[in-house]
Amino acid sequence: MSRLRPELFDAVRELSELPGPTGHEDAVQDWIAARWATFADVQRTGVDNVIATVSGAGRRLLIMGHADEICFMVRSISDDGFVHLGSYFNDVRGYPPRWIMPLNQTALVLTEQGTVPGFFSTVSGHVLTTREGSEKRWEWKDWFIDLGLSSRAEAEALGIFPGCRVIWNPKVQRYGQTRITGKAMDDRAALAIATVAAEELSKRDDLAYEVVIASTVQEENGLIGAQSIADSVEVDLCLNLDVGLVGDIPGPDRQDFPSKLGAGPVVVYQDSSVHYSRKLSDRLLKIGREHDVPMQRAIYQQYGSDGAAMIKRGIESALIAYPTRYTHSPVETVDERDLNWTVDLLVAFATTPV
Ligand SMILES: [Zn+2]
Repeated sequence: MSRLRPELFDAVRELSELPGPTGHEDAVQDWIAARWATFADVQRTGVDNVIATVSGAGRRLLIMGHADEICFMVRSISDDGFVHLGSYFNDVRGYPPRWIMPLNQTALVLTEQGTVPGFFSTVSGHVLTTREGSEKRWEWKDWFIDLGLSSRAEAEALGIFPGCRVIWNPKVQRYGQTRITGKAMDDRAALAIATVAAEELSKRDDLAYEVVIASTVQEENGLIGAQSIADSVEVDLCLNLDVGLVGDIPGPDRQDFPSKLGAGPVVVYQDSSVHYSRKLSDRLLKIGREHDVPMQRAIYQQYGSDGAAMIKRGIESALIAYPTRYTHSPVETVDERDLNWTVDLLVAFATTPV
């Protein structure tokens, strides 16, 4: 394969460690706007999407990822200074789904004054007062944030109120040969891929399109930011980047999830919300294979992406997913080779004559 780009890992680490929960993506969009301004014309829209025109001529090709990460909302603060949590999404169950497990992680509360560290807590086995307590499902009120404070007034003095957002907050780590793990591979690895691909494209004079890149807000709560991208910039086709589901761990049935880490980007033909452009997807596969990029293809359930929002606005769109284990957890895990191959694929696509 082509070399592993050190600038790609650096961008993944920097972006993934920034706090950018749904609805409070400012730190991520600030980073994106500043970096993209070094090689492109940047606009920031009313809802805080960032869009940049890179270079080239012809049909407009949009490469897109989302800035937000999943989070928790501050619901209330107790008299003795503990933060009670609510859901960032439309919680039809009324209790936490099995796939969210924040306990014993470091936490970061985002306020208008800055950030406040703490940790996600629950009563320990030693102080549970009922036997049933150790067997029932989790309720939202079983979890809280311990900030090391003693009163609501202390929390409020730090800017913490209902409506603030809370994220889990691990550092990015490399492990094994090529694995990278961190809290927001979804979807900051996509923004890192788009950034590095656009930087490479900005230096070339053989672009087959006019290349535009975008970082959207509020994807995780229903593709909200992406819905107005088409009002801010006219584009002809869209390659959306997001995490890809894999079955290469104990548990999932390989028949349901045939993709795996280290086997290249995944072209997703269909998910819960949309059928992606079949022709554009096929073209991606063909161009990838012509450039020695290993390619996977898949369909997903219980999954959606900003690509659906673009198709609803009349823009031909495909979804390129980089394989990711443990999505929506503090240890989202990707393979550095897949990220590099995804950059290779985007550069090859944007420079292949139409
Ligand atoms: Zn995502």
